[in-house]
Amino acid sequence: LETVSQVAPEIAASIVKELADQRSNIKLIASENFSSLSVQYAMGNLLTDKYAEGFPRHRFYAGCDNVDDIEEVACREAEALFGADHAYVQPHSGADANMVAFWSVLMWKIQSPYLEEIGKKNLYDLSKEEWDEIRKQLGNQRLLGLDYYSGGHLTHGYRYNVSAQMFDAYSYGVNRETGLLDYDEIEKMAMEIKPLILLAGYSAYPRKIDFARMREIADKVGAVLMVDMAHFAGLVAGKVFTGNYNPVEHAHIVTSTTHKTLRGPRGGLILCKQELAEYVDKGCPMVLGGPLPHVLAAKAVAFKEARKKDFETYAHKIVENSQALAEELKKRNITIATGGTDNHLMLIDVRPFGITGRQAEAAVRECGITLNRNALPYDPNGPWYTSGLRIGTPAVTSLGMGKNEMAEIADLFALILGNIKPTETDGKISKAKYTLDDNIKKQAKEKVQNLL
Ligand code: PLP
Repeated sequence: LETVSQVAPEIAASIVKELADQRSNIKLIASENFSSLSVQYAMGNLLTDKYAEGFPRHRFYAGCDNVDDIEEVACREAEALFGADHAYVQPHSGADANMVAFWSVLMWKIQSPYLEEIGKKNLYDLSKEEWDEIRKQLGNQRLLGLDYYSGGHLTHGYRYNVSAQMFDAYSYGVNRETGLLDYDEIEKMAMEIKPLILLAGYSAYPRKIDFARMREIADKVGAVLMVDMAHFAGLVAGKVFTGNYNPVEHAHIVTSTTHKTLRGPRGGLILCKQELAEYVDKGCPMVLGGPLPHVLAAKAVAFKEARKKDFETYAHKIVENSQALAEELKKRNITIATGGTDNHLMLIDVRPFGITGRQAEAAVRECGITLNRNALPYDPNGPWYTSGLRIGTPAVTSLGMGKNEMAEIADLFALILGNIKPTETDGKISKAKYTLDDNIKKQAKEKVQNLL
């Protein structure tokens, strides 16, 4: 840091302040965690200086031997960790991983058969007319994913996201009454839509998904099953989600981030069946720019960490804590969407307190809890103001917290939410502010400090 501060003292100061922030507030953001120092050191070094477009032993640059070694270790570790045929570790983020996966499926299912049909082996041999013909077909394919408002991610075909420009995008939602996925309903939609890709996975769904059933649906309609396990990759690695609930066993292609429950560096990952491997490996340069060798190194370290027995214990504890917290919140009359959780996250419905998710998020942050507001399914307050709070236990579990601490965190929510006083809004949600008594804030902050 001293070296950084000689050049950019304000940046060094922000890094120190961020450390203080993350250590003095309870981190309940479901998509965040604390990576190890080994991960951070593997990432913060001269490997950032190297270009390595291509894939191991097949690069567009010279001098890539060390990056080749690093990337190969990362791939083999990821394959062993998840029991996958093939791993591709270059995506810079979860969204990038999804773009690469989409493009790989399009190449596998549309472009490649077309090349065969016209008797050409190589993309580079196509005339402009032939390529235009392929483009027409590529742009015509259907994607069926979980609706953004039911907990899906923007890249799963949200209308204004690039994923919905790449595909003719459709979405399934959760059941209005139960808040749960309805597989029969998804099957019905899939039969009508006949998507090229059936996409499962979520950012804010508190239950496990039956991937065996999703694969059955995909097979029935001739779709490729893609799963985005960005949120719950750590629960798959840690063997919480096994059998029907393990996406790697059932999907053709699985994307992920490496920085959420998996506790690695910020980045993306793709796992796929062997038949897709050659297309996935073309992610760079067809979709991505040069890989980040320093992050590849950190991913390799994180995968090795996740293969240790204590990661399995950690993953199970994440869910135990999540379920304990949901139960403790319910005991305090706080409403939890779907009535509970099977994974690392839950959604609190804050409407009974007469406030929006935005007000609740700001109030708990003032008291030392960092989390994010989140739309509930079919949320009348929309995605900006929302009616929900998303709470996740991966980070507090990394800190070693257990069931007793979950009860205390539930006390904190009851204390804060129960004492927020919404201000007058003249019926305009944008004016929805609140007051919270200084004494309550003081009590809550003291409780937070005692917990950390
Ligand atoms: N997929 C899912 C399900 C996510 O929840 C997220 C991020 O929250 C992403 C993809 C995107 O990940 P990233 O922010 O690394 O691009």
